[in-house]
Amino acid sequence: MSRSFECMGAWEIVKLAIVRRRLLANRIPKDSVYPLETWMALKASVTSKNERELRNVIGKKDHDEIDRKDFDEYQLFMFREQLRYVKKESPHYREKLKDIVPEDIRTLDDLEKIPFTYPSELAEQSMLFMAVSRTKTAREFTTTGTTGKRKMIGYTTSDLIAKVDIISSALKSIGMHDGDVLHIMFPAVDAWDPSLMLAGACKVAGYGSSTCSSPDIKEQMAVMKDSGATHIIGLPSFIYRVTTLMSTETDLKGLGIRKIISTSEPLSESMRGKLQDAWGCNVLDVWGMTEFGLACAIECDERKGLHTDEANLLFEVIDPDSGKRVPDGKLGELVVTSLTAEATPLIRYRTRDMAAMVSPPCNCGAVFNRKLMKPSGRMDMQFKVGMGYKIYPVMFDECLFGNGNVVDYQMTITKEGFKDVLTFDVESKDQSDDTMRSIVSALSEIMEIADGIREDLIDVPRVRFIDIGSMEYAAKARKITDLRDNFD
Ligand SMILES: [Zn+2]
Repeated sequence: MSRSFECMGAWEIVKLAIVRRRLLANRIPKDSVYPLETWMALKASVTSKNERELRNVIGKKDHDEIDRKDFDEYQLFMFREQLRYVKKESPHYREKLKDIVPEDIRTLDDLEKIPFTYPSELAEQSMLFMAVSRTKTAREFTTTGTTGKRKMIGYTTSDLIAKVDIISSALKSIGMHDGDVLHIMFPAVDAWDPSLMLAGACKVAGYGSSTCSSPDIKEQMAVMKDSGATHIIGLPSFIYRVTTLMSTETDLKGLGIRKIISTSEPLSESMRGKLQDAWGCNVLDVWGMTEFGLACAIECDERKGLHTDEANLLFEVIDPDSGKRVPDGKLGELVVTSLTAEATPLIRYRTRDMAAMVSPPCNCGAVFNRKLMKPSGRMDMQFKVGMGYKIYPVMFDECLFGNGNVVDYQMTITKEGFKDVLTFDVESKDQSDDTMRSIVSALSEIMEIADGIREDLIDVPRVRFIDIGSMEYAAKARKITDLRDNFD
């Protein structure tokens, strides 16, 4: 822990002490079975003691007495509070929700009375969403986004502390202890805030951290080794790149990394399997959105769904066509409400992510916290080929990274006559005809592609080998480029 204090002045130490006192993460008992859920129960318990409206419903309960029913009441109370707040402070919602009476929201079914917020509204008028003056924002994020206009999201100091609190609890849940060090690798990412937030969460939780933004593999390894890292967080495609290129010269298992956290991109199961084999530890997935402060859900060691931050966020899944809520376990579009955000509160925000919510219990010990089943791909990252078959990057990750030689790839869609042509530029350690054949055959077996080939609407996938390092490192949707003139 001394590492955190090395370069700190007296004022920083005082500020750190104040922030630490405000964090519920630091009040999670040592014997907690699943710290993230205990932290949520603490939130509900503290709120019930301070707020009469909630106390009237669930009483003055301690955190270990909170069950799902109490937690639903906590969420409904927070939702009503947030409605009152946005109707007063946010110009956008003051107008949009002028006929809404917060007191009418008594059950989860009542949520349907509240209109959705669409990403396009936020992009068009980010400033009107803000519920505080810009002088009160401590930080502003602009989404880089894969499509459309940029959205600006503000964070007050309280918003940032709430994020640090959830991240600290999540790090506790994955088994970090005093003296552990988190290596943060986000190469070629313009926005530095995710790294800062993670480093801040480590500091208040009493962990060390090291950050490296260089896309240079050797430099990443050097920084990581110097810091004595015990845990890694970063983009899976980049961690995979490091793994594939370094595994021949370094005994990765010997580095003693206890957990790897994959974030900001979908993690395919084949990539997870390869990373786990190479490093000898579990790889856990995280899901988040800039709109909600990135860290929104994290897997436990079960690796079957992501535990959600239900203290700050309310998750619903809806049928994207009818807008009706679907029951737990059913796939639909994820809709999220920020229950505590001060600067840019969002009510029933359509995320465009496909997901399902799963009811507890979970084998990790969580008893009321609902899990998010892994999104199968962002709706706005999908491309249609052949007879309207939807394709998205994670499908190809599964197939290409299943071949141990592939380091990275990019794909372009073009049209020749009636046929869609998928061309893959593949960085591969082995560029033999055999490897080429096995990659083409694996791609041709993807159901959507196979159907398209049979119907003569998609050409057999074309693969070109390129040298390792010759492709600029690309994340997310940039992996697929659509060059067709007319497509929907
Ligand atoms: Zn679990």
